Amino acid sequence: MNPADDPSARVESGEEGEEIQTDPFPHGADMPPEEFRLQGHEVVDWIAEYFRAVEDTPVLAQVQPGEIREGIPARAPERGEPMGEILQGFRTSIMPGITHWNHPGFLAYFGISGSGPGVLGEMLSAALNVNAMLWRTSPAATELEEVVAGWVRDLLGLPETMFGIIQDTASNSSLVALAAARHRAYPQVRKAGLFGLPPGRIYASEEAHSSIEKAGIALGLGQEGVRRIPVDGAFRLDVGALESALQEDRSQGIRPVALVATLGTTSTTSCDPVEAMARIASETGTWLHVDAAYGGAGAVLPELQSYFRGWEAADSVVFNPHKWLFTPVDCSLLFTRHRQLLQDTFSLVPEYLRTEEADRTTQLMDYGLALGRRFRALKLWFVLRYFGSEGIRRRIRHHIALANHFARRLEEAPRWRVMAPVPFSTVVFRFVPAGLEEVELDRLNQAILDGVNARGRIFLSHTSLEGRLCLRVAVGNLRTHAGTLENCWTDLQEVALGLLGEWD
Ligand SMILES: *Cc1c(COP(=O)(O)O)cnc(C)c1O
Repeated sequence: MNPADDPSARVESGEEGEEIQTDPFPHGADMPPEEFRLQGHEVVDWIAEYFRAVEDTPVLAQVQPGEIREGIPARAPERGEPMGEILQGFRTSIMPGITHWNHPGFLAYFGISGSGPGVLGEMLSAALNVNAMLWRTSPAATELEEVVAGWVRDLLGLPETMFGIIQDTASNSSLVALAAARHRAYPQVRKAGLFGLPPGRIYASEEAHSSIEKAGIALGLGQEGVRRIPVDGAFRLDVGALESALQEDRSQGIRPVALVATLGTTSTTSCDPVEAMARIASETGTWLHVDAAYGGAGAVLPELQSYFRGWEAADSVVFNPHKWLFTPVDCSLLFTRHRQLLQDTFSLVPEYLRTEEADRTTQLMDYGLALGRRFRALKLWFVLRYFGSEGIRRRIRHHIALANHFARRLEEAPRWRVMAPVPFSTVVFRFVPAGLEEVELDRLNQAILDGVNARGRIFLSHTSLEGRLCLRVAVGNLRTHAGTLENCWTDLQEVALGLLGEWD
């Protein structure tokens, strides 16, 4: 039983029986502050030790499907349990099923870090538990969000005319941005729905993220309302193909709703020709949305500006600090130059949410679907202050250097091939020994992936390029260092050569 529900504890603190009946929780019904202090210290100590020693654990959880569920009672406890036992249960029942995104060898998908300052900010925002739906429901949460959105906008070199707002994920940021684009293309839809209107389309490359197609589903444009444009040899949207698609669709009465440029695609981190796309968007009066969920972090570096040239003309841009800006999940920034339009798309204010200061202050609920909003700006503020712009640039630059060094090593080694340019910190590659058919190469590379991941110190993921299975190394974790990539290389070589021996 936990102390808050322990009747003897109340007797000891000298309460009368009668009082207990009228007010069973005279000191509040939550965990007592002294207990919180004690357990809180335990938790912080545990986190610090976890961060220190995470490299000693296998990066992938070593459990079978269902194993974690079986270790947890199917029913919630009737009586409260002591916090010490709950934390013990966390260590023994939950931790074995954790995949360690904090492990330096986590090179799959996009490696990320919550970072110390980010975790501390997250703890405080959990403690404050404010809901920043209105300015009034927590002025600091609203105003800090406005300020840090401006900080990040400036750090990325986006124009000052852009308004920024924090959403949970890039998927939802893109949904919100594309909803505004649809509102511009079909103003009557907000009231009357899409029924009976001529069809509209969003244009994105074949390499664009699935969230764009999901937005098409959610916005009533359908999957066919997202036209996939072919890519060139470097996996960038083919501008000529985009122009022909727009022309063809227009001749059939299909209305363009938005162009989506991806800066840092999920497979290869390729960057679409955003400057040319901005020109087409402007000529056709179409909304330009830029998905820079991961790649946007590269914009902090002057030497990478060529990839971003033209994105300042976008109508909306999404960038995820929870991907490559050391902020705990979740935190996605949506920037738009059409603040009023975004508000017109979503704002719906019932009487009980009206405030007299509404015309002088920002009501964050007006810029998306959710009413309730977490205080995500706090952790981002901590991260930006703790590392500073200069510290962020050095870390991003270091990740890019690690990835490029790894790519050079693959290029110099016999039988390995880098399959896509490396603009940022992600390398896509393949083992290609001579004399094997494509299907055999796919199976071999899958076996290498499984073999490396089974060793426990490196976690890689895969992708498919032109139908070929490729391996990916993505550096984005603050704990990843040169030695990690040495280990990765050793594991790849040993597993690949071992398999090749068996293959013959
Ligand atoms: C990761 C990613 C997304 C999705 O991000 P979420 O925040 O998980 O929704 C969207 N676009 C690109 C290019 C991505 O890399």
